[in-house]
Amino acid sequence: MKASAGGYARAKDVPHALELMAASEGAGRFLAGGQSLVAAMNMRLSEGDMLIDISRISGLSGVSLSGDHLRIGALTRHVEVGSDPLIRDHAPLLTQAVTHIAHAAIRNRGTIGGALAHADPAAEFPACALALGVTLHAQGDNGTRDIPVETFFEDVFTTALEEGEMLTGLSVPVAEPDEVQVIEEVARRSGDYALTGLCLVRRASGHRLSVFSAGPVPMLATGAMQALDAGDVDAAVDALRAEIDPPSDTQASGSYRRHLAGVLLRRAVSRIEGDRA
Ligand SMILES: Cc1cc2nc3c(=O)[nH]c(=O)nc-3n(C[C@H](O)[C@H](O)[C@H](O)COP(=O)(O)OP(=O)(O)OC[C@H]3O[C@@H](n4cnc5c(N)ncnc54)[C@H](O)[C@@H]3O)c2cc1C
Repeated sequence: MKASAGGYARAKDVPHALELMAASEGAGRFLAGGQSLVAAMNMRLSEGDMLIDISRISGLSGVSLSGDHLRIGALTRHVEVGSDPLIRDHAPLLTQAVTHIAHAAIRNRGTIGGALAHADPAAEFPACALALGVTLHAQGDNGTRDIPVETFFEDVFTTALEEGEMLTGLSVPVAEPDEVQVIEEVARRSGDYALTGLCLVRRASGHRLSVFSAGPVPMLATGAMQALDAGDVDAAVDALRAEIDPPSDTQASGSYRRHLAGVLLRRAVSRIEGDRA
């Protein structure tokens, strides 16, 4: 089936994109890599959209180090995230995550900003952002604002971005010298969305554990984090399984996903402990 679009315009910079959005009378959709939006249009899940192509706005892609944070532009493509040396050194969770995302063709076009704004509960980058404690940067008619990731994901495909607001980038805390970051997931086939997955970060201040494909939004498993801080892995597995409520669908039952989450947590802990040895 062919996509049904209500128009197309290429934005030359962020103010131009916001102008086009304001003029679209609610029909505007930012087009970044198109790897989720165009797929949805092809399936007629979304019709009549006025596409505002932001993909060529310079200054919205790339990675830079600024003090104790990495700044990543929203238009930075998955393939660039996966190969960037600053990200590898200072936020290796993102480097690892890219290897789990889809296939090369999709990674060549998809952008980190698109993945975060799309907020698919099974996607890797939203869960990474949560585990790393990033800050998201947005720009809209009322100016710019910073959004803590803990308040960003509101529901399936729904974020704290306001109508017409654009995600321009994110700031990621630079990893501490002894920090360890791992991602674990199970998918039916390589490149498929995960049946369930998790990201585990161990810092001097404690653990951060996020779970994805286990509910409507990626979530921080705070009970499991406390048990990990206390050094009790069995209690962490129990707490994790108790605090998620995964859905059943054609891919897997909720109870299987719950079981899997505990298995993945043990794997992640053993990788982290291996790193300490
Ligand atoms: C077959 C297939 C398999 C996939 N497998 C995986 C997978 O395993 N894991 C995974 O994480 N992803 C997967 N994806 C999704 C892929 O990673 C997408 O690229 C990503 O989710 C969206 O990024 P994009 O740049 O293509 O966004 P687009 O498709 O262009 O946009 C997606 C949505 O975000 C909005 N948007 C985009 N950029 C911005 C912005 N800067 N500010 C505000 N709103 C914005 C758009 O308006 C749209 O609503 C898969 C996609 C396909 C087609």
